[in-house]
Amino acid sequence: MAYVYDDQNIFARILRGEIPNDTVLDTAHTLAFNDIAPQAPHHVLVIPKGRYVTFDHFASEASETEIVDFTRSVGRICAELGIAPGQGGEGYRLISNAGEAGVQEVPHYHMHILTGRPLGRMLKKAD
Ligand code: 5GP
Repeated sequence: MAYVYDDQNIFARILRGEIPNDTVLDTAHTLAFNDIAPQAPHHVLVIPKGRYVTFDHFASEASETEIVDFTRSVGRICAELGIAPGQGGEGYRLISNAGEAGVQEVPHYHMHILTGRPLGRMLKKAD
């Protein structure tokens, strides 16, 4: 089945410049900006500029150039925030929610980078 991308999603509108964002990094294929409702002292969203819905969509259909650009961008942000463990940083968590079970709010692939407080265990049992 083909992936269906909604051009009206909020991140598509950010990429078109229709909605402002607090940019952290802007490269040829990737944009990173601060989350509007941060869940930790640092909460950055990293998105590809291409029309991808989820990680699996990006992984299967993005070009190697886009994938390398995205991955290096996440690494650069970790380095610039000084959060890389082994490099003197405190560590961080990467999260990418997908679809209904993942409770994805915005249907444009994005990676959350969270850090700046103890983040607790990865998952809690559902209520
Ligand atoms: P998801 O639940 O899809 O993984 O995460 C979507 C994230 O996008 C949420 O953390 C939410 O706070 C953030 N978000 C939603 N709308 C906007 C917006 O207009 N600007 C920014 N910067 N973040 C947004």
